[in-house]
Amino acid sequence: MGLRLYNTLGRSLQEFEPIQPGKVGFYGCGPTVYNYAHIGNMRMYVFEDTLARALRYLGYEVTHVMNITDVGHLSGDADSGEDKMVKSAQERHKSVLEIARYYTDAFFADEAKLNILRPDVVCNATEHVDDMISLIRRLEANGYTYFSGGNLYFDVSKFPSYGEMAGLKLDELKAGARIEVDANKRNPYDFVLWFTKSKFEDQALQWDSPWGRGYPGWHVECSAMSMKYLGEQFDIHAGGIDHVAIHHTNEIAQSEGATGKKWVNYWLHGEFLVLDKGKMSKSAGGFLTLKTLTDAGYEALDYRYFLLGAHYRSQLQFSYDGLDSARASRRSLVERVLALREKLHGGEPTPLATLCPAAKARLVAFKAAIEDDLSTPRALAELWGVLKEQGVSAADALGAAFDMDRVLGLGLESLAREAQAAVDPALAAELDALVAERAVAKKAKDYKRADAIRDELKARGVILEDSPAGTSWKLAPSVAGATPSVAGATPSVTGATPSVAGATPPGSAPRA
Ligand code: AMP
Ligand code: ZN
Repeated sequence: MGLRLYNTLGRSLQEFEPIQPGKVGFYGCGPTVYNYAHIGNMRMYVFEDTLARALRYLGYEVTHVMNITDVGHLSGDADSGEDKMVKSAQERHKSVLEIARYYTDAFFADEAKLNILRPDVVCNATEHVDDMISLIRRLEANGYTYFSGGNLYFDVSKFPSYGEMAGLKLDELKAGARIEVDANKRNPYDFVLWFTKSKFEDQALQWDSPWGRGYPGWHVECSAMSMKYLGEQFDIHAGGIDHVAIHHTNEIAQSEGATGKKWVNYWLHGEFLVLDKGKMSKSAGGFLTLKTLTDAGYEALDYRYFLLGAHYRSQLQFSYDGLDSARASRRSLVERVLALREKLHGGEPTPLATLCPAAKARLVAFKAAIEDDLSTPRALAELWGVLKEQGVSAADALGAAFDMDRVLGLGLESLAREAQAAVDPALAAELDALVAERAVAKKAKDYKRADAIRDELKARGVILEDSPAGTSWKLAPSVAGATPSVAGATPSVTGATPSVAGATPPGSAPRA
């Protein structure tokens, strides 16, 4: 069975067929960098990361593109409200670009902690305004635009399939039901492609354009940048479920209006993380960030584990009880992996080709779970299954588990390796010196001293391994911090990530 994904376009589970065999073009809407990302936002990025990992696991060559919105996004997705970046900059007495840089760094620091692999292309809206202008010119040439009240609008009545994915019915629309009434718009669903005049006369970033000096509407960046990096037609577009009705609907209208071709074949939408009290939102103030969780003593990967326990299309209720149980499960998982690693006595996990039948069967079931619209709860169950299966050797269990973790992203292999490397360098130097001293004592037949050193090391939880090549040492799991604190050793899965550790937010950024 091949990969099946739930396509919002058509609202059904569909067999995945890429445009070019073996390759996948994948665009995911990225953050608006006016504040810290909250844990609801991070759920979306863990979902997109799991999708990219799963596609690679299944053998596809993936190009994952993500935008960074640093201009044009208003607090209402349909051109209403305030400009998020400008408002944040004013509140914090910083420039928009300073704000963008600071929160972009903070975002990627969170991504790294969550073992989210950096997308192949990360593109900023402010660096692609020329591409947006070119796209808008094509729309203008194709008759989709009009100028009104100083802004250039997309006329949805010219695009007959407008709102198809979201199931919108234009003729049934009551003005103002979904969006604020804007006297400049011919139809309530019309949206701004280019602002020259609006309530944001003080917009900090402005560009010259054929329609006057101004700045782009929010939606146009995703159409322009995705097509720049993935071509006019590509395979998968993902984002949060809240974007179906407006943002993605407008992206489709712009892209297909410009090219005259179908744009994206599969639309995947991640459901929301909700709090007991309801919706979590940055704009409404009062939100939980990854730092809120780590300050409370959780590890970022406890949160990733918590998320993997739910299917991406199910709404997930956040609670500290739920996070506690994810933490406990992840702890036992890590302990199990380190215990199996111990049993290997320095040996290597079994390569996939030579796994025992029971471990192979688990991998087959794991792949089937992933192929079934990314069923991470079932995939996790298979991971646990192989680690606990009677009669499966440590080498086979780890061989299969590390392979599964390529999708789950829990950093199991690096945790096992880094349990050793996570030792403090001063301690490592001291242990090296004692081992060397023991070797010298043995050579001099001073067995009393040699045994005393061995006993001292043993008492400190250090295991010595003698081999023809010499003696090496390793720490027993509990000493190496085999409990999840080892996860503090940063997993080496992300590219260069900007660090914001210790940096203070620009101005008086409320952490709420
Ligand atoms: P923003 O930075 O506000 O543009 O949001 C970034 C992404 O997070 C968007 O794709 C939203 O769909 C998604 N998102 C916002 N709130 C939540 C939530 N509570 N749960 C899951 N995803 C969310
Ligand atoms: Zn987008």
